[in-house]
Amino acid sequence: MSFDDPNDVRFRPDDDCPIFSQELEDHIVAISRGQAPNVGRFCGNCYTPLSRDTEMCPHCREDVRAGRAPVDAVPDTLLETLRIQRAIEANWVNGFAYLGIIIAATTGLAIVLGVPMFRDSLIWATLFYGVYLLVMSRVLPAILGGYFGDRMGYEKARTKTREAWAEWVAKRDQPQR
Ligand SMILES: [Zn+2]
Repeated sequence: MSFDDPNDVRFRPDDDCPIFSQELEDHIVAISRGQAPNVGRFCGNCYTPLSRDTEMCPHCREDVRAGRAPVDAVPDTLLETLRIQRAIEANWVNGFAYLGIIIAATTGLAIVLGVPMFRDSLIWATLFYGVYLLVMSRVLPAILGGYFGDRMGYEKARTKTREAWAEWVAKRDQPQR
């Protein structure tokens, strides 16, 4: 499962958090893959990529002239923050996916050992276990990882990201001496 497969719809709640717009996340992913340089024009408040003549940030509504001036690169701290967020999310998704495989293997075994017909016939037991494992080791990881892991990972990761972002903003907005 690729993390950025366009068909892979990931959980994204509307938590009115002005951090990491989809555009910014896409841009950072491109940077980390070496597909884009970290230069351009970015909102000075939320770092969403802006086109040359954009006057108001489409994500946080920051006015380019009256508010914070646009910047020409995404701060390294935020690249790192997103990297950590995605690593946490991936760990949760993968962890739950493995759990699904373990559940598939153990429940299959329990059925084979518990049903008399399978206990008496090695062939039927093997056949059943093979098919059961084939199906369930795909279905359970998809449900557990793709649904529960995705949501829980997002929650955990988002909490950390909010903290890191708040820390960054506090540092950024400190009066210069
Ligand atoms: Zn913005």
